[in-house]
Amino acid sequence: MPESVYNKSIQMVDLKTQYEGIKSEVDAAIQEVISQSTFINGPQVKKFARELKDYTGAGHVITCGNGTDALQIAMMALDFQAGDEIIVPAFTYVATVEVIALLGLTPVFVDVFEHSFELDVRQLESKITEKTVGIVTVHLYGQCSNMEEILRISDKYKLKVIEDGAQALGASYTFSDGTKAQAGTMGDIGITSFFPSKNLGCFGDGGAMFTNNEHLAEKLQMIANHGQKKKYFHDSIGVNSRLDSLQAAVLSVKLKHLDSYSEARNKVADQYDQAFTKHPGFYFPERVPYSTHVFHQYTIRLRESANRDQLKSYLQEKGIPSMIYYPLPLHLQKAYLHFGGRVGQFPVAEKLCKEVLSLPIHTEMKAEQQEYIIDSVLSFFKAK
Ligand SMILES: *Cc1c(COP(=O)(O)O)cnc(C)c1O
Repeated sequence: MPESVYNKSIQMVDLKTQYEGIKSEVDAAIQEVISQSTFINGPQVKKFARELKDYTGAGHVITCGNGTDALQIAMMALDFQAGDEIIVPAFTYVATVEVIALLGLTPVFVDVFEHSFELDVRQLESKITEKTVGIVTVHLYGQCSNMEEILRISDKYKLKVIEDGAQALGASYTFSDGTKAQAGTMGDIGITSFFPSKNLGCFGDGGAMFTNNEHLAEKLQMIANHGQKKKYFHDSIGVNSRLDSLQAAVLSVKLKHLDSYSEARNKVADQYDQAFTKHPGFYFPERVPYSTHVFHQYTIRLRESANRDQLKSYLQEKGIPSMIYYPLPLHLQKAYLHFGGRVGQFPVAEKLCKEVLSLPIHTEMKAEQQEYIIDSVLSFFKAK
């Protein structure tokens, strides 16, 4: 394959081509907001919240400024108090532990499963103390963690559960009795992010919270809006976190395409899986039986960690981007070392940080582009 033809345009996420496919709808929606000039709390925001509620089946959807705010507002609404302990996976994006620390709570890290990257539920009970009030689970890379087991344990110890579904909007979970639920709608509160590169991304920042509890829904709404239900009367300390009307208008358009976007991502993932089956050099991402996958990331794991950075540079030379999500586990991050993290404490998380590599996956991948990526990955190992 002539490299020059395809390598230029390969990106981790191709938002520009995605936009071109829905340009007339999106442009009209944006123009409508501008014409109405209701930039904050316009009708588009309520409309999108309603549509997202219908899509996810959540009892209530409250929109906000971004996914990190959503996590913070969730913890405030659950009345977590300074000193309380929150269990959180050591291998995830920083946002979760950041808001835990900001609120004066104590993060208690737990290791993850090496093949599915999710919180290792077998270790959960050993982390619970009399100070534990909650568990934050992360549906990493687009696949739900083991909610049935997490909910069983949280019920037993009366803990609150927050689902960080920033990477997994649209993933469907199946409980052992056959009932299904969407990512973010199973815990006390679920959150998601509309950061542009997320599976449902807007043209800036945005986020949302899900709950099936009416009282919590009111609280989330109030906290996101300066702690007020009635303007200028503040019942609790809140924050200012809003999804603006332009973002909501864009999201309404894109939500209609979310399932086809997930399908497109799954097609790319299937192609990778087929090409990489039983490869001696690396593992491809495991699919758990209890969740569909929306492939926010397609993350391989190099069997020899020395190969990871070499493969990354090799691909880069061929014009193929790849990313390391994440290079350092949370317990070893400088900002959080004071919580007692040390090397060797969470061996799987530490190992994954040396082995993982996420390959380009998005809704606009051309077959030729993917062939070129696959050929390049395979040729790296042949050359060794
Ligand atoms: C993106 C992301 C967030 C934060 O969302 P923002 O909208 O960027 O604040 C939180 N958790 C996970 C797992 C994420 O991937």
